Amino acid sequence: MTEITPQPGIMEIALYKGGASSLAGQTNVLKLSSNENPLGASDAAREAVVRAALELHRYPSTDHAALRAAIGDVWDVPAEQIVCGVGSGEILKNLSEAYAGEGDEVVFTEHGFSMYPIYAHACGATPVVVEERERVVDVDAILAACSFRTKIVFLANPANPTGTMIGQAEIARLADGLPKAALLVLDGAYAEFVDGYDGGAALVASRDNVVMTRTFSKIYGLGGQRIGWAYGPRDIIDVLNRIRGPFNLAAPALAAAEAAVRDTAHLAHCRAENAKWREWLAHALGELGVASDTSSANFILARFADQAEAEACDDHLRNEGIIVRRVAGYGLPNCLRITVGDESGCRRVAHAVAQFKGQA
Ligand SMILES: *Cc1c(COP(=O)(O)O)cnc(C)c1O
Repeated sequence: MTEITPQPGIMEIALYKGGASSLAGQTNVLKLSSNENPLGASDAAREAVVRAALELHRYPSTDHAALRAAIGDVWDVPAEQIVCGVGSGEILKNLSEAYAGEGDEVVFTEHGFSMYPIYAHACGATPVVVEERERVVDVDAILAACSFRTKIVFLANPANPTGTMIGQAEIARLADGLPKAALLVLDGAYAEFVDGYDGGAALVASRDNVVMTRTFSKIYGLGGQRIGWAYGPRDIIDVLNRIRGPFNLAAPALAAAEAAVRDTAHLAHCRAENAKWREWLAHALGELGVASDTSSANFILARFADQAEAEACDDHLRNEGIIVRRVAGYGLPNCLRITVGDESGCRRVAHAVAQFKGQA
């Protein structure tokens, strides 16, 4: 027997499954499984990557100053309280490793993002799963689950895969009610889809126990570049800067993100198109007897009668060349998560669901 063994918790991790991106024997595949932006990245971001190609031999910036300045300008947050990561995922993981370990608890809700238990196990902490109320986060239930062992509470707002969100007053109540040693991590992967929502920035500014994360993978259409950021109290940003790799972000990714964040017109266009086609799709599915909660993100959680119907619909969609996400692993076996595509994508998936329901 080898004595070379991984740290506690690591073998508890169930491997993350990303959304599929191809179907055997299908050509015209419509991928609606990973909440990518159907309109793609800003032209300015594409051009920045092309320019960056001329400098591939250079090491990238270590302090990400230019990107942090751009984020600070656009989102009105202090640049010195921003840290950038390899996707927001790296930051969520680094927060877990910095603030939780063996004997500590990391709290999240039953339909929460499936990376949260992975981050908890990876640092040896114990994941604590809290029930939601009808697919909506329940602040009282989270507070009741917290103890002196709680070091991190992960909350995505809007949430994935439910698409629901809770209001600012509720988040503030959560932040104020947490045990002293617990950090509230507001995962804002979908925050930009909500017009006028600050992603929790005001809460970060006024408290010392809240960090918010954002990503370039969703509305900015830069999932392939792996880049995200966080805004938090100075001491927490300092801790994150100590443990991240000095060259964690590649130069083309930094250049793309800086151009993308400054292209506020593209952002507004993507937000408006998403809202328009999300409403259209939710209505079209509703007419077919497929219910969904009001979504604040760029996907719809379509609810079917039971798991068998959801799986049968998924099989039909796959035969039609459409990939959506099964979410049984999120405790939602009767649901499918469908990314809001562009107009043709939304029309195509609605038509395929209508065929499945015998109503096309
Ligand atoms: C997509 C997503 C992320 C972001 O992942 P990146 O590492 O930034 O690509 C984080 N949280 C949630 C809930 C997500 O859905």
